[in-house]
Amino acid sequence: MLGPAQEFQSALFYEFNLEDHVPSNHLLRSVDRFVDLFGIRAFLAPFYSDIGRPSIDPELMIRMLLIGYIMGIRSERRLCDEVHVNLAYRWFCRLDLNDPVPDQSTFSKNRHGRFRESDLFRHLFEIVVDRCIKEGVVGGDIFATDASIIRADANKQNSTPKEEWDTTSLNPEDAPRAVKEYLDTLDDAAFGAASVVQPKFTSHSDPASQWTGAMKGPAFFAYANNYLIDTDNAIIVDVEASRAIRQAEVGATRKMIQRTRSKFGLYPEILAADTAYGTAENLNWLVHEEGILPYIPVFDKSKRKDGTFSSSDFAFNHQANEYTCPAGKPLKKSWRKMKTPRSGVTKEGFIRYYARKMDCEPCPLKPQCTPRDTTRKITRHIYEGARDLARELSQTDAYMDAQRRRKKVEMLFAHLKRIMKLDRLRLRGPNGAKDEFHLAATAQNLRKLAKLIPQPA
Ligand code: SF4
Repeated sequence: MLGPAQEFQSALFYEFNLEDHVPSNHLLRSVDRFVDLFGIRAFLAPFYSDIGRPSIDPELMIRMLLIGYIMGIRSERRLCDEVHVNLAYRWFCRLDLNDPVPDQSTFSKNRHGRFRESDLFRHLFEIVVDRCIKEGVVGGDIFATDASIIRADANKQNSTPKEEWDTTSLNPEDAPRAVKEYLDTLDDAAFGAASVVQPKFTSHSDPASQWTGAMKGPAFFAYANNYLIDTDNAIIVDVEASRAIRQAEVGATRKMIQRTRSKFGLYPEILAADTAYGTAENLNWLVHEEGILPYIPVFDKSKRKDGTFSSSDFAFNHQANEYTCPAGKPLKKSWRKMKTPRSGVTKEGFIRYYARKMDCEPCPLKPQCTPRDTTRKITRHIYEGARDLARELSQTDAYMDAQRRRKKVEMLFAHLKRIMKLDRLRLRGPNGAKDEFHLAATAQNLRKLAKLIPQPA
């Protein structure tokens, strides 16, 4: 039987409880168990004036921002509209049906003011990591690190080639916020000081972003989002924004390892990473200064492609401090006895080892070893010991396991871009990138907690 047509009839009184209308298996209901903003008001109190109009509740703004990142709503205007009409979002924000939703302009005012002054998003991220540790989902033994390139809100049309870029012509007094931040970070190891090499183009709207062609397609302006994760459950234990170049990314990882130790007392035994982190200096830092085993492929350009012997075909004898070539002859730092022995270390940190003419000239292996030169020489980095350890580790089963675990960072980045839709930044400047990366990492950890610890039935 056809029922009567539905007609809109507003009731005079409603008996309505939001709690009853949010499904028990809703993602936000699961996440809500781990959002502990109890101390946020006290944390922010020094940044509010004692007089004037009462502010919007900061906890409400944080909850709204978390919804944006958890549910992949990138626009703050849309976020406000969605919170207005979505019952689950209202419930998560502690808003009743009649409560007004803050205007989107409130977010930018607070972001550029007290939220940044107080480093609120960092504080929020640490609260959630602390909760992950207390819930027992962080093992703390095997960490992995990687960086992902995220497009900046900048384009080529509004940029200057490096020959024409002159920082002295910028006036910090009347420069836009992103330009002021760029000037402030010129000496920062994660940004301006990461490399003396100037990028090919510099954006006018966001000069700290890096012009990069690392994604193999057309180049663009970008920042690097660096994650340090605990590989047991892919919990992000630290996050850092940096320039999208290798040196800055390696520097960011060092900073994160030290900060995780001082903040949370986490001392990983193993770090898994890709070749970008396998430089001699970095491996040495991990092994000798931090006591961490590097399950990292060695960054090695010494492999010869013309079929002649590579340096890996020569065996190094630590005690004698010399190499032995495939023909069994020694290669030494120096064949002459010197009154004052020289270190023989080049500016780049390499030591050269030479074979003797009397060994090489009659050698039947010479065409395979050094067809053009009279004698063969091998260069060895002063931190080659750490590289050798990394090479040895790469032959173990534990290395295969660590590299499998490392894939979890890549999966987090894929999730970040595809599900949370953070493939292009909305905010400009190093602080904009920092804010977005911290909120995204916080949201990813909350989602992970919700998944790992199911709601009691
Ligand atoms: S050419 Fe010289 S260094 Fe090379 S294998 Fe022969 S003796 Fe050794």
